[in-house]
Amino acid sequence: MSDHSETRAKLEAQLDDAVATLDRLENHLRNTDRSVPQDWPEQAQFRENDEVLEALAARTREKIEGLQRALERLDDGAYDRCSNCDREIESERREVLPTTTVCSSCAGSR
Ligand SMILES: [Zn+2]
Repeated sequence: MSDHSETRAKLEAQLDDAVATLDRLENHLRNTDRSVPQDWPEQAQFRENDEVLEALAARTREKIEGLQRALERLDDGAYDRCSNCDREIESERREVLPTTTVCSSCAGSR
């Protein structure tokens, strides 16, 4: 069985990072004390910024889930295995997409 301690450390670092990012975003979005500009164009801009941040928070949440799943797969010893065809996932592919659960041929045929 291959040693994944480096991969695990990398995934955990990314997870910490994503959790910290989400924390900052949620704090910012929850902070309703922010003074809303009185004139309309700026208010619209203000809301647009919030939408951007909401979208970013949603993406960060997805990333966290993906990283948590990847870490669970490491625990299960299933990290190397394609969840679709059960072949080994190419190491170059995992390098680029550390949270992927399928090999490149399965990903390509979807
Ligand atoms: Zn596959």
